[in-house]
Amino acid sequence: MSQPRIAVGGFLHETNTFAPSPATYEDFLRGGGAPPLSEGEAIFDAVANSNIGLCGFIDAPEARTWSLIPTLWTAASPSAHVTQDAFERIAARLLAAIDRAMPLDGVYLDLHGAMVTEHLDDGEGELIRRVRALVGDGVPIVVTLDLHGNVTPTMVEQADMLIAYRTYPHIDMAATGARCATAMARLLSGKSRPAKAFRQLDFLMPIAWQCTAQEPCRSLYAEVAAMESESLPSVSFLTGFPAADFADCGPCVVVYGTDPESADQAAGRLAARIAAQEPAFAGRVFEPEAGVREAMRLAESAARPVVIADTQDNPGAGGNSDTMGMLKALIACGAERAAIGNVFDSAAARAAHEAGVGAVVRLALGGHSGVEGDSPLEAEFTVEALSDGRFVAPGPYYGGGRLDMGPSACLRIGDVRVVVVSRKAQMADQAMYRSVGIEPLEQAILVNKSSVHFRADFAPIAETILVCAAPGPMAVDPADLPWQRLRPGIRTSPLGRPFVPVVEPA
Ligand SMILES: [Zn+2]
Repeated sequence: MSQPRIAVGGFLHETNTFAPSPATYEDFLRGGGAPPLSEGEAIFDAVANSNIGLCGFIDAPEARTWSLIPTLWTAASPSAHVTQDAFERIAARLLAAIDRAMPLDGVYLDLHGAMVTEHLDDGEGELIRRVRALVGDGVPIVVTLDLHGNVTPTMVEQADMLIAYRTYPHIDMAATGARCATAMARLLSGKSRPAKAFRQLDFLMPIAWQCTAQEPCRSLYAEVAAMESESLPSVSFLTGFPAADFADCGPCVVVYGTDPESADQAAGRLAARIAAQEPAFAGRVFEPEAGVREAMRLAESAARPVVIADTQDNPGAGGNSDTMGMLKALIACGAERAAIGNVFDSAAARAAHEAGVGAVVRLALGGHSGVEGDSPLEAEFTVEALSDGRFVAPGPYYGGGRLDMGPSACLRIGDVRVVVVSRKAQMADQAMYRSVGIEPLEQAILVNKSSVHFRADFAPIAETILVCAAPGPMAVDPADLPWQRLRPGIRTSPLGRPFVPVVEPA
């Protein structure tokens, strides 16, 4: 075969159907915590040297021998539904670029797996279906998925292989792209297409307890990796994203094997192992002030910061990163040497920039997304530092990627410092504090608006990590969400109540 022609692209969104704001076309254009929407050759530069699936695919040794045809790559911060307008415009351009690239020997897509749009429950299933319809059955389609993907039967059916991350915090996004290149090479080598096996688990896993550095996921993911062999070329376990209200929400197992029987048996075995760990997907959650008091108590004898996860406002799960519950608790408890970030409030950042360093500004900070039980914090703040918000995030989660948080500031109230930003991105790198002059190592308490990703860069410097539940859109216990459309019988938390569909009154 002459040099294989592989079209590459990506379209990523994690949808929390309960979150306050949708993902619009503008959100994808800007990218937020991810690079902005790019097309053609520009996508190579956009994803270069970063922890992104496409970057890992491009840099894989196998891919060096292929002719890679760049199409389109885009991602937006997790939020409520992707608008119909955004999905259709982006999908049309991605499809048109693939069409222009034909004839092709393969297609690689960097997707998330938990995209719900205003008009489609299964964003990725529809996207892969359209790509399949365009390129035909003979062209292999290999897809990277986030470990939080809510995989559907359509996705399994339409793609040759779906291969998911194995770490949360996701420090292996690029590594998963590289595994997809290996899978693509196998498909191109003319061996028969692998048989597929798919099992959905029957309980939702709270994201705070999905961390793969802790049990039960640490052992389960070690097993997943150990299961792969010549006859089982890819084994994935996805913990799922338990905030998307549709029938295929939840964890699953996707296995590819040289024969249907061994794939099916392996999937069944793995699903049973995971099911047996159901009670272990649980842990302690503090109310805001109780969590702050516990952090202050621990900090008295600690040499390193006590880190609190403000998990229910995690912008990586659809939060707006602007709730004030934890900041109010820090102030109410009189916490000292404390810092919190990121608070997404572009008006506050602008006011700080206009006032200048050293000025005192009166603000109604945060609390703008209308989350029940939350409100802005009206108070005076001292502007301690200003920044254009552009910096490199060297920690393992952003992996050296360039971030652009827009105009940013450090605002101080009492002995609490607040990272205020103009663009939403998850507090998952120490550089986010340093970008506005806060040295995280010098703080007694750090409150991160994140559920798990922050652990990659903060666990090494943390005395301990506490999980707090201030009012926010990403329920720490999925059973608290107002579900309506899950599949009947799935438990909405580990060992929890089975879901009963809401019966519409006649
Ligand atoms: Zn994820």
